[in-house]
Amino acid sequence: MEKTLVLIKPDAVERNLIGRILSLYEDRGLKVTALKMLNADKETAMKHYEEHIGRPYFENLMNYITRSPLVALVLEGDDAIALVREINGKTDPLEAADGTIRKLYGETKTYNTVHASDSEESAAREIEIWFGR
Ligand code: ADP
Ligand code: MG
Repeated sequence: MEKTLVLIKPDAVERNLIGRILSLYEDRGLKVTALKMLNADKETAMKHYEEHIGRPYFENLMNYITRSPLVALVLEGDDAIALVREINGKTDPLEAADGTIRKLYGETKTYNTVHASDSEESAAREIEIWFGR
């Protein structure tokens, strides 16, 4: 069993997509084992996206992720990390496969609706950031 950290990002919460997105995970057998809604502060957002500091899109990304509430959750299941990345689809909604969350709901490469951890190390790090305290 693997755990992964998902964010249902502000654009999705604003458009009332929380339920539809959770269903897409649950329908694939993934278990929600923690979940909360919060307005991310700048410090948490920066820690979460620290590998992107200095990128041209970084300020836009910080403004986006902190602009209104998001939902943070932990999903558990066999191969959860890879499975959730597959369900989410590629970063750019224009490149995401049919049926993926980003294809269905993503707006732009930045406003792309969901986040998921990309490795066991990231999952442990990100679960600590959002649920560690
Ligand atoms: P992913 O979320 O698919 O793991 P990355 O880790 O590369 O993608 O990027 C983190 C987030 O930063 C993306 O989900 C997206 O919101 C934003 N982002 C990444 N690359 C770009 C880009 N080239 N232009 C605009 N926004 C980007
Ligand atoms: Mg990433």
